[in-house]
Amino acid sequence: MNRRQFLGLTGILAGRVLTGAPERAAAAGPPQISPDAVGVLVDTTLCIGCRKCEQGCAERQKLPDRAFEDMSVLTTPRRPDAGAYTVVNRYYPKYVAPGPCCDSPTFVKFQCMHCLDPACASACITGAMSKQPGGPVTYNVSKCIGCRYCMMACPFQIPAYEYHRALLPRVMKCTFCFEYITKLPRDKGGLPACVQICPTEVMTFGKRADLLDLARWKIKNKPREYMDHIFGEHEVGGTSWMYLASDPLEKLGYPKLGTKAAPRLTEAIQHGVFQGFAGPLLLFGALGGFMWLTDRKGKAKHDSSEKEGGR
Ligand code: SF4
Ligand code: SF4
Ligand code: SF4
Repeated sequence: MNRRQFLGLTGILAGRVLTGAPERAAAAGPPQISPDAVGVLVDTTLCIGCRKCEQGCAERQKLPDRAFEDMSVLTTPRRPDAGAYTVVNRYYPKYVAPGPCCDSPTFVKFQCMHCLDPACASACITGAMSKQPGGPVTYNVSKCIGCRYCMMACPFQIPAYEYHRALLPRVMKCTFCFEYITKLPRDKGGLPACVQICPTEVMTFGKRADLLDLARWKIKNKPREYMDHIFGEHEVGGTSWMYLASDPLEKLGYPKLGTKAAPRLTEAIQHGVFQGFAGPLLLFGALGGFMWLTDRKGKAKHDSSEKEGGR
C-alpha cells in the first residue's frame, strides 16, 4: 500500500468513524447497480491528443476557458482540477533512449472513473457524493460541508476543491454529464460532451456490459494492438469508465490498483477496529459500574455513621 492509498483508506475510515456510519455502511454493502448501467470505453490507441474533449467539457460544464489549442501543456502530466474535469496527457511508454520509439506517443484522457463502489461516496459523511444505479457518481453541493474526505479517499485523485472561492467552495469533478445522459435522447445531445466532440471516436458510450463485450472483441481481433487487459473491469471493484491501451495503464499515468473496492477494505478494518474496541469498552463499562457501586456503598456507610453519630 502506498502513501496515497493509505491516505485514501484513512479518509474513508475517518469519515465513517466520526459519523457513526460504519454500521450503516456495513449493512448497506456495495451500491446497487442496474444491469443497464452505462459506462464509457476509452480506446487510448485512437487518441490523437487534440484536447477537443477538454474543450467540449469546459463549454458544457461552464468551466474556465483555457487555451485548448496550446499543445505545449501535454509535455507535463496534469491532473483534473477545480477548473478542468478532464485533461489529456502524453506519454512515451516505450521510451528507452532518444530515437524512433519516441515518435509515437500515447495520449490518455483522465476524468472521474465513476467507480461501481466509489470510495468518495463511502467516505462522504453527508451523502453529498452518491453512486446512481444508472452509472454516474454525482455530487450534491447542498449537502456538502467541505470536509474533503472524498478527496482523501479517491484512489484516482480526482475530486478537486475550489480553494480560490472564499464563499461556498465546491468539490469539483466530472459529472458524467449526468443531467444530459439521463434526460435527453442520444441524437439530441444525450451523450457526455467529451464523447460527442471527439473527432476520432476514442470513447464509446453505452451499457457497461456491452462495452465489456466490445473491449473483448477488440482485443481478440487486434491482439498485437492491445494489452489483454480492460482497465476498470475489475480494478477497485470495477469502474464505469474503462480503458484499452497498448501498454499497461501504470505506464500511462494510472496507479496500479487491486481488485477490491476501497470501501470493502475499510469495512474489514472497521470491523477489526470496532471488535478491538469492544473488549476495552466492556472493561471500562465494568470498571465504571464497579466505581459507581463502591461510591454508593461509601456514601451509604457515611450517611449511616452520620446518623449514628447524631443520636
Ligand atoms: S474516481 Fe474517485 S471521485 Fe470518481 S467515483 Fe471513483 S472514487 Fe469517486
Ligand atoms: S463526461 Fe461530461 S463532465 Fe465528464 S469529462 Fe466528459 S464532458 Fe466532462
Ligand atoms: S477529443 Fe478525442 S482524440 Fe482529442 S484528445 Fe480527447 S479523446 Fe483524444
